[in-house]
Amino acid sequence: MTPPDDKPIVLALQNVSCSYEAGTRALEEISFSARKGDIICLLGPSGCGKTTTLRAIAGFEPVASGEISLNGAIVSATDRHVPPERRRVGMVFQDYALFPHLTVRDNVGFGLAYATADDRRSRIDEMLSLTGLSELARRYPHALSGGQQQRAALARALAPQPVLLLLDEPFSNLDPDTTERMRVELLHLLKTTQTTAVFVTHDHEEAFAMADYVAVLNNGKLEQYSAPETMYHLPVSPFVAEFVGQADFIPGTIRDSVVVTQLGEFPVPKAYRGDSEVVVMIRPDDVHIRENRDGDGTVASRQFRGSEIIYGIRLDSGDFVHSSEASTRFFPLDSKVELKVIATHTVVFDRKAWTTQRVF
Ligand code: ADP
Repeated sequence: MTPPDDKPIVLALQNVSCSYEAGTRALEEISFSARKGDIICLLGPSGCGKTTTLRAIAGFEPVASGEISLNGAIVSATDRHVPPERRRVGMVFQDYALFPHLTVRDNVGFGLAYATADDRRSRIDEMLSLTGLSELARRYPHALSGGQQQRAALARALAPQPVLLLLDEPFSNLDPDTTERMRVELLHLLKTTQTTAVFVTHDHEEAFAMADYVAVLNNGKLEQYSAPETMYHLPVSPFVAEFVGQADFIPGTIRDSVVVTQLGEFPVPKAYRGDSEVVVMIRPDDVHIRENRDGDGTVASRQFRGSEIIYGIRLDSGDFVHSSEASTRFFPLDSKVELKVIATHTVVFDRKAWTTQRVF
């Protein structure tokens, strides 16, 4: 297998800023890159700049500063703007935007106007077969289910062999069961065709399930760009920590090379440079509870999730943490428990900065 770093860079954004109105920035100095076959997910709350990033890559928004390159060629800069139709970028919109008056077959063939009739036919057949739509080729979009419409939109976007595929919240119009199925199908399709893709979502579970790299945006700025596992275990900011999963923070004090907390001592991460008064991030999967009348936690809430139960534990200090337990481990509400934290990584933030930066 080729090591990932040997794959060519397909997309690069360098210090990209975008403005809709003079004086305000919808995007500020965004930089990241994607290699051939990578799936990148833009994640963040509403209004953080995900769609603007996607539109800037597609060429629908000019950049106010910075550069966007595709396959090594600059397509957006302050003095250059390659129009969308010349970028070889495929786009799948939230509502699929299929042409209602064209059959599935003609929708898929839409971007192949310059191919010879034979090439066109064989490419359409290939795409229909890849997306499982061969039997539905003569249907019109209104006679397709949501999942089938999405497959048709994907087939249409992939038919001209785009350099890059952009997807704007591709699952937002599907019911949860279809979404689950389409995520698996899409991932399989993108990986088999080695398509480089950037897609937008506000759902961290979706981002984790699909992406090789996740870009978390907050208020027009890129907070973190990393693999899902790194983002979950080593978030760079409290914002990222809370946005990508349940995170609790307990106060701690650095003494020598450990952080002392009410739940035990943790090693101080090498890169930490802040004050000695800190908060330690605790994930529910790091917290293990055991019934103990003399324990310093009380079961305050219980959320059954099928394969696990999330318990909310109030500590005698007043702080609150969550614990993820197997769904067979039952602890009654108000029972006293002792807690043990086993974390592979310690994540600490400067307590003063954390207090002022909290958004949730
Ligand atoms: P997201 O996709 O993450 O919800 P957007 O990229 O759509 O966020 O928006 C980023 C910021 O730019 C928001 O503050 C939004 O209000 C603003 N914005 C988006 N589109 C326009 C527009 N056409 N005119 C002015 N401001 C816009």
